[in-house]
Amino acid sequence: MPEASDITDIRHAVRQLCAKFGESYWLDLDRDRGYPTEFVQALTDSGFLTVLIPEAYGGSGLGVYEASIIMEEVCRSGAHAGACHAQMYVMGSVLRHGSEAQKQYYLPKIAAGEVRLQSFGVTEPTTGTDTTSLKTTARLDGDHYVVNGQKVWISRIEHSDLMVLLARTTPKEQTNKKTEGLSAFIVDVGQAVGNGLEIQPIDSMINHHSCELFFDDLKIPRENLLGVEGEGFKVILDGMNAERILIAAECVGDGRYFIDKASRYATDRVVFDRPIGQNQGVQFPIARCYTEVEAAWLMVEKAARLFDAGEACGAEANMAKMLASEASWRAGDVCMQTHGGFAFAKEYHIERKFRETRLYQIAPISTNLILSFIGEHVLKMPRSF
Ligand SMILES: Cc1cc2nc3c(=O)[nH]c(=O)nc-3n(C[C@H](O)[C@H](O)[C@H](O)COP(=O)(O)OP(=O)(O)OC[C@H]3O[C@@H](n4cnc5c(N)ncnc54)[C@H](O)[C@@H]3O)c2cc1C
Repeated sequence: MPEASDITDIRHAVRQLCAKFGESYWLDLDRDRGYPTEFVQALTDSGFLTVLIPEAYGGSGLGVYEASIIMEEVCRSGAHAGACHAQMYVMGSVLRHGSEAQKQYYLPKIAAGEVRLQSFGVTEPTTGTDTTSLKTTARLDGDHYVVNGQKVWISRIEHSDLMVLLARTTPKEQTNKKTEGLSAFIVDVGQAVGNGLEIQPIDSMINHHSCELFFDDLKIPRENLLGVEGEGFKVILDGMNAERILIAAECVGDGRYFIDKASRYATDRVVFDRPIGQNQGVQFPIARCYTEVEAAWLMVEKAARLFDAGEACGAEANMAKMLASEASWRAGDVCMQTHGGFAFAKEYHIERKFRETRLYQIAPISTNLILSFIGEHVLKMPRSF
């Protein structure tokens, strides 16, 4: 567990960095569907995006706990962490499952900010949450795998040098378990585009830079296989706990952002000759949201501590993500209500954050699937699917 002073220092430094990118910076990007290149560069230069990379590979070797503090502060500042959060955790697949040669090759470059690995290609349009039914195939042909198929909602691919891709290398019918026969690959996006990979941006509710991908005989060098052929599902699964904890921390940041704004406005806004926050009908929902967000943070902390101690944390990571994503959404709703009509004015920034935080009840995993995990794996109730 890090010293409290270290955590305070991290918080302070991230807060100072984010303060240079005010809310109008994020509003302009949202309007123009732009990518926050300067922000991501500043976060990379400061080392905050690569804290999870061990020192031996050029990172600072900190834990998910510190990473959670960073993402929480980023979101609390009004920023949209979705533009870059994956740079923190996608590299975990290389760290945990890559060969030593792959680690030596990729991790120092990622740590130095020379390459971005912030794209993760799993979801497909026809199979969705049913990951093991995905239809994209990778067939070994000499020194290459040849990939065909389609992905959807693959975020940041246009701003990423590398992508971790999940594809089927053995037909499901020929495996003993549906989780077998999937493989993970490192794709060099620059080389792939125009040579078997086509990217089409999706016009979506938030500025998340998500795309559809079409693979038509894309060749991936054999040495880009990540981990063991046929065991790619494990590569993906192992990265999920860190991702969920960090997303949960972001939701807590969003929730605190909404509560800060709502309580300030409720104190300042005078209607009927008194601050609206003097009315308990306005005050109590904000206080309730505060309570929910702070409770969610305790679960984030618990999950992060377990993760960093190398202990099982699947239940806690899932619960943290569910609690935090619901708490931030409710805080957003209350913040909207507190601001009345002004909540709809873009210059108040609330509606943008409201849209952004809604994502996390659906991605990277939806609430139902979390409940299913808890029901089956924690409470040992019958398996549903
Ligand atoms: C903005 C955005 C960014 C994304 N970025 C990425 C990315 O970078 N990489 C990537 O691989 N994916 C990404 N995704 C995809 C995301 O992970 C999926 O959208 C999510 O996992 C849900 O899958 P689906 O959309 O196919 O929903 P579906 O699987 O079609 O499910 C639809 C609804 O039905 C419910 N449901 C389905 N089956 C069951 C069941 N058995 N029991 C109960 N309820 C069920 C789900 O909970 C959900 O609410 C992104 C999505 C969005 C919107």
